[in-house]
This record gives sequence, C-alpha cells and structure tokens, in this order.
Amino acid sequence: CELQTVAKQVGLDVTTLSGRLASRAPEVDRSAPGLVFTADKCIRCLRCIEVCRSVQGLGVMTLDHTGTGTSIGFEGNRWGDSDTCIQCGQCALVCPTGALAIKNQTDLALDWFADPTIKTVVQFAPAVRMAVAEGVGLPAGINLEGQVIAALKALGADFVMDTRWAADVTIMEEGTEFLERLTAQKTAGTLDKPDTMFTSCCPGWVTHVEKNAPDMIAHLSTTRSPQGIFGALSKTWLPKVLGLEAHSLRTISIMPCTAKKGEAGRDQLAHDGRPDTDLVLT
Ligand code: SF4
Ligand code: SF4
Repeated sequence: CELQTVAKQVGLDVTTLSGRLASRAPEVDRSAPGLVFTADKCIRCLRCIEVCRSVQGLGVMTLDHTGTGTSIGFEGNRWGDSDTCIQCGQCALVCPTGALAIKNQTDLALDWFADPTIKTVVQFAPAVRMAVAEGVGLPAGINLEGQVIAALKALGADFVMDTRWAADVTIMEEGTEFLERLTAQKTAGTLDKPDTMFTSCCPGWVTHVEKNAPDMIAHLSTTRSPQGIFGALSKTWLPKVLGLEAHSLRTISIMPCTAKKGEAGRDQLAHDGRPDTDLVLT
C-alpha cells in the first residue's frame, strides 16, 4: 500500500506497536456488498471522508469519538446498512493503507473453475480489456480482449462472453420502454408535459437516485443493466439451448466498478432466491 511505500522510503521496516495492539483480533466490517473496512489499518488521514463528501457529494463517513479513540464510522451503522452509500469505491481508491478495500472474491471464482460439477459462464465489460492492459504495465489504449478470453479459458472457465451483446439487448429494451411510456402519455393526452426517462448502466448512479433523490425514481428506466440482462439470459436461455442443468451454472461478471457487486445482490435481479449474477470481480 501507499503507506508501506513511504515507510520503506524513510527506513521504517520494523513495527514498534505494543503487544496489545499487535496481537488483538482486527475489527473488519464486511457488511457492504463491494467493499471491506479493516479498522486497525486506518491511520485517520481522513482522505476517505474528504473524497466522499467533496467529490461524491455524499458524506457517508463520519469521524467518531476523540483523541486516540478517533475512528471512521458509517453514520453509526455497519457500512452495509448505510442509507446513503452507493458503493462507488472512491474512498477505497484514495485510502493509503488498504483499510478500505475492494472485497476480493477471486478465490471463489477459482474454486468454481476447478469444480467439474459446475459450469461457469463469464462475462467481461468493455472497459476490462483495456484496464487489464494498463494493469500489466502496457500503454493506455491497448486492447487485450483475446488475451483476457484465453486467460479465462486457461483458468478453467467454461464459457466466456462479451457484455457488449447484453448491452445491445439493454438498448432494445430501453427503446421499447420509452415508446411504451410515450404511447401511454399520448393516450392520456399529457404529451404537452412530456415525461423524462433516465437510463444508466451504472448501479452507483441508480443507487444514488434511489437513496439520495427518491423523487426522481419514477423517471428511472426499469430496464436491467447489461450485467443484469446477461445474468438472466445465462441462467434461463443457456440451459435450454445447451442442455445444461440450471442449478450447476455459476455466472461470473468482470466489471470495472465495485458498485456492480452491489447491483448483483439486488432482490430484483434474482430468481427463486438465487442471484442471476453469482459473483462480480472488479
Ligand atoms: S463507496 Fe462511495 S459513497 Fe460509499 S463511502 Fe465510499 S466514497 Fe462514499
Ligand atoms: S482513507 Fe483509509 S487510512 Fe485514511 S481515514 Fe480513511 S480508512 Fe483511514
């Protein structure tokens, strides 16, 4: 992490923490869908509070208690119970110690790849093929689409697909919904005060409207995002055309944002209590 890099630069390579602090069990809040907070790693730099308040305009985090007991809090709740957090992950991006971090579920994906009784269907978002290139040190703008597919197949993924085709389905559904709304307005004779329909594939944005601007909910499109449509079609259509057992399928989504983990856990995006998208990696 950033703090360890600075510590190395100034020659601090041995911890001088007292035994009480070094040996106690760390307090970890895993209640949020996409992010984890480990209180003992926090150095109270307040970057997270600042980015959430000044950049995201939300102010989810609070500074609780005083003196040596000062700590980061979430409006008095566990993180997952926050009424305002949209799981955008910007706080984790600026945290210098890893106290705020993305929930890492890679091991579960690898377990499923290795399990012969499970068929895995992986989708990856358009941004991922470029982000992976930058992640391995290549210049910005390099497209590693083929390499991403080959790597996933080598790891054991059964099916690898591009989220873009689900995006096409989303656009068709949104267009149909818009025409239905327009027709309903025409029938009602209210076209002089046209409705506005907002669409976004960003679950952070959608959650922001739901939690922080609820008067706008009626204007949100009800169409699923490409991730949501892909998950539903994978769980319903693939078993039919490929003769697979639906219960043996696991859908994995590789996305550029932590908010997608939150989206996958929504009740609206599940059938018979099982999520359409089983796992999201970012
Ligand atoms: S995930 Fe986003 S909204 Fe939630 S606390 Fe962090 S910066 Fe604020
Ligand atoms: S950014 Fe990280 S280290 Fe700084 S106050 Fe927030 S949780 Fe603590």
